[in-house]
Amino acid sequence: MVCSLCQSAKNNLYAEYSSLEKYFLCEECDGVFLAPNLRLGLSKEKKRYELHQNKLDSPDYSSYLQSILDEVRPDLSSNKKYLDYGCGSERGLERFALKQELKVDSYDPIYEPEIIMVKNGYDGIFAIEVVEHFFEPKKEFLTMDSLICSGGSILLRTSLRPEKETDFKRWWYRRDPTHVFFYSKKTFSYLADILGWKIRKWNPPFFHFQKK
Ligand SMILES: [Zn+2]
Repeated sequence: MVCSLCQSAKNNLYAEYSSLEKYFLCEECDGVFLAPNLRLGLSKEKKRYELHQNKLDSPDYSSYLQSILDEVRPDLSSNKKYLDYGCGSERGLERFALKQELKVDSYDPIYEPEIIMVKNGYDGIFAIEVVEHFFEPKKEFLTMDSLICSGGSILLRTSLRPEKETDFKRWWYRRDPTHVFFYSKKTFSYLADILGWKIRKWNPPFFHFQKK
């Protein structure tokens, strides 16, 4: 078994709760991942995503989107260009940000795969509740890195995995079958190291990075 983030073979069975819930812990990057053969296929994933579609006119969704923009408020500018990486089906952040004169492109491998993303073309990337879905985290983070300009910022939103296995077992986040990779602070430090990103701020569930 090779870790899909760091490619290390030094990982061990972490927990097995049922035939569909089998997790490995990587010694190298401290990531925990679902056994690759248990990942849902694309069509099942899509069905699952369609269970929680958001509508822009819902107050809860609007305040959720606002909280994302507020998290990076001092850096936001109408002269900058942003990318919502893994935007989902609604292009929610793009449409919401546009009302505040912010330009956000939307990319999603299922819903918005056609967008032409410009290398080094973005001042900021949002990956909101996305990185836990990555089958190939290293490849995805390298893609993000190639899209961001030097000095650009990256905002991730995800839940850090609990340190204790007993808490991991109860953790609702891992029960979503589309969540396949779970990060610790150590995993994010590893990631920053290999990508040459600076860790700007940790404000869980938000994690701020900057490309050097
Ligand atoms: Zn690893």
